[in-house]
Amino acid sequence: MEKDSKIRVLTGDRPTGKLHLGHYVGSIKNRLKLQEESDVSFHMIADIQALTDNADNPEKIRKNVLEVALDNLACGLDPQKTTMFIQSEIPEIAELTVLFLNLVTLARLKRNPTVKDEMKQKGFGEDVPAGFLCYPVSQAADILFAKANVIPVGEDQLPVIEQANEIVDDFNRFYGKIFDRIKPKVGDTPRLVGIDGSTKMGKSLNNAIYLSDSHEEISKKVMDMYTDPGHIHVEDPGKVEGNVVFIYLDIFDEDKNEVKKLKEQYKKGGLGDVIIKKRLIEVLEKFLAPIRERREELAKNPSEIMKILEDGTERAREEAKKTMEEVRKAIKIDYF
Ligand code: ATP
Ligand code: MG
Repeated sequence: MEKDSKIRVLTGDRPTGKLHLGHYVGSIKNRLKLQEESDVSFHMIADIQALTDNADNPEKIRKNVLEVALDNLACGLDPQKTTMFIQSEIPEIAELTVLFLNLVTLARLKRNPTVKDEMKQKGFGEDVPAGFLCYPVSQAADILFAKANVIPVGEDQLPVIEQANEIVDDFNRFYGKIFDRIKPKVGDTPRLVGIDGSTKMGKSLNNAIYLSDSHEEISKKVMDMYTDPGHIHVEDPGKVEGNVVFIYLDIFDEDKNEVKKLKEQYKKGGLGDVIIKKRLIEVLEKFLAPIRERREELAKNPSEIMKILEDGTERAREEAKKTMEEVRKAIKIDYF
C-alpha cells in the first residue's frame, strides 16, 4: 500500500447460503479487527456475483441476502463502523466492470487458478456462463469503486486479488493513476477444511458447520466427522495429521496444552474417537452459542436489517458516483 494512504477495507460474501466456520476464521475475524483499525470499512453482499452461477435460481440469492447480513451482524459487524450494502444496488459497479473488461484477456481469465478450480467443481467446462468466467473482473470493480485497498479474504481468493492488481496497474498506466494496489489480508486459518476432510469448507459444497447451526446439528456433524480410518479400536495408535477433529481442535480449542496432551495420547493409542469428538462439540458450542443467540434476536426484525442495508447502500452509492466521475474523466468519456 502507498505511504500516507488511508486504510479502506472492503469485504463481502456471496448470498448463496448461510455463513460457516470457514468464513469466520478465513475472513470475518479479520473484518472485525479491521473495522476498528481502518479509516473506512465496507461489507458487500455480492448478489450479482452469486447470480453468475445461479442464474436459474434468483429466489435462493434473494433469500440469502438477509441470512448473510444476519450472520455478519451476529458475529459483531457494526453498521456504525462498516457500511453494509447490496452489490446490485450500485449500478456504477456494472459500469466499471464493462470498462475493466477491456483490460483483461480471455486467456488470462481461463488461467486464473480460482476460476479454474471452481469451474471444475461446478462441472462447467466450455459451457461456463460468461459472467462466471469474468467474475474476477467484476470483483475488481467491487473493490475499486470504493477505492478499497485492504481486503480480508480466504486463501482461495488470492488469485482473484492478483488479477485485480493487474487491472489496477493497466488502468493507472493507460489513464493516469487513480487506484491504489490492493492488499489481501488472509486470516490465521487461510482455508478451513470441510467436515468431510476435503480441502475447503464451502457453502455450496455440503460440508459445512454453519454459524447458525443448533447444538444438535453441531453434534451430529462432529459425530460423523472423518478421523483416522486406521484407528479402529481404542487401543490402536491413531493419526493426528489430516484428522479433521484435531484440525478443528487446533483452531478452536483455547486450551492448547490439553490439545497437545490429547494428541500424544491419541498417537500412542488408548484414546477413543468419541472422547475427542465430545470435546470438539463442547468447544464449538461455546464458540457458536453467543453468535447463534445474537442472530436469533436480530432475526426477529428483518425490516430493521433491510434498513441497515438500505442506508449502507445509499452511502456506498455516494462513493461510487465520486469514483465514476474520476474514471470517466480519465478515460475521456465525460462528454456533457
Ligand atoms: P460459494 O461456494 O458459494 O462460493 P463460499 O463458502 O466459498 O461460497 P464465499 O461467499 O465465496 O463463500 O466467500 C466469502 C469469503 O469467505 C471469501 O473471502 C472466502 O475466501 C472466505 N472463505 C470461504 N470459505 C472459506 C474456508 N473454507 N476457509 C477460509 N476462508 C473461506
Ligand atoms: Mg466462494
